[in-house]
Amino acid sequence: MGINNLPDNPYLLLTPGPLSTTKTVKAAMLRDWCTWDDDYKTIVQEVRDTLVRLATNKTDRYTCVLMQGSGTFSVESIIGTAIPENGKLLVLPNGAYGDRIVQIAKTLKIPVVFNDSGELDPPDLAKLEATLKADRAITHVAVVHSETTTGMLNPIAEIGKIVKRHGKIFIVDAMSSFGGIPMDIEALGIDFIVSSANKCIQGVPGFGFIIADKELLMTCKGRARSLSLDLYDQWNTMENDKGKWRYTSPTHVVRAFHQALKELDEEGGVAKRAERYRANHRTLVDGMRGLGFRTLLPDAFQGHFITSFYSPESERYDFRTFYDRLKTRGFVIYPGKVSKASAFRIGNIGDVYPADMERLVKTIAASMFWQG
Ligand SMILES: *Cc1c(COP(=O)(O)O)cnc(C)c1O
Repeated sequence: MGINNLPDNPYLLLTPGPLSTTKTVKAAMLRDWCTWDDDYKTIVQEVRDTLVRLATNKTDRYTCVLMQGSGTFSVESIIGTAIPENGKLLVLPNGAYGDRIVQIAKTLKIPVVFNDSGELDPPDLAKLEATLKADRAITHVAVVHSETTTGMLNPIAEIGKIVKRHGKIFIVDAMSSFGGIPMDIEALGIDFIVSSANKCIQGVPGFGFIIADKELLMTCKGRARSLSLDLYDQWNTMENDKGKWRYTSPTHVVRAFHQALKELDEEGGVAKRAERYRANHRTLVDGMRGLGFRTLLPDAFQGHFITSFYSPESERYDFRTFYDRLKTRGFVIYPGKVSKASAFRIGNIGDVYPADMERLVKTIAASMFWQG
């Protein structure tokens, strides 16, 4: 079946993620692949090498591990493997995904403390400094880069400087930002960074990936609190067996991801993709403000990956009706996730372009049923 025969999606997914992918990414899944033969293992190795290159210029120092499951499985594999028995984790949450890291640590019975700055504020750097000074038991610090709950882009460069000045290990959940904003993890002082297939690289869901300081990862042997999520052992098998996963790997999804990485390169790389996402975001926000909507965050805190808007204040508004109207007209949006305000969210990432955002704003203008 050629890609021209693939049906068009009835709507754009503005819900990262899963998000809208190209037909060519979906078409890459239309054949079956072994998990252990050389064709497939070569693809896995190319994916791992490409991801390290996207993360840093210091490629020798870092290595990449692919992990089955959704993004959370990969976060859990880091937390459960990187922190030794006598370690202690400090998390800087300001939304649901930061809270989830705390929850993972608690579930695994890892000592954890957290400085919660609230959903509408970035982490407090002075408080971070003070906590690290006061609590010498802390060995690792974790933060979310793009907090998908609100769309806030946390200042990982400033946080990393403080974490490194105190000699701690720095873990970053860059799930919804990696590949959509230029970064060099070596310059940022990051020891473990994590993202997944179905975010800014524009693949389909099924696995996550971790880019780690190689020497540090090698010290994690035998530490994991889970068999399936043993990050060290997964790496060791992939490394020694040149692209083999320990257990059944999501072959079709990896194949689609390999195609998605090729398309990222053809687009002009991460800087170009970031430009497109920024243009999507700008077009969306300008258009929505023109219609009278207000963004949840001030522009200074806002990333270009996902945007939260306050719900209209009319009593006649309800999200479900709004959602259904937009879905019938070709766009799927996200409900809000903040606890203290009524809001909805619109993703700017995926195979989506400023022209789509212009169409979306026009469609929203025609769907404001609460205005009588
Ligand atoms: C998507 C996402 C995750 C992972 O969520 P899954 O549903 O497990 O894929 C983690 N952190 C952030 C910031 C995310 O956006």
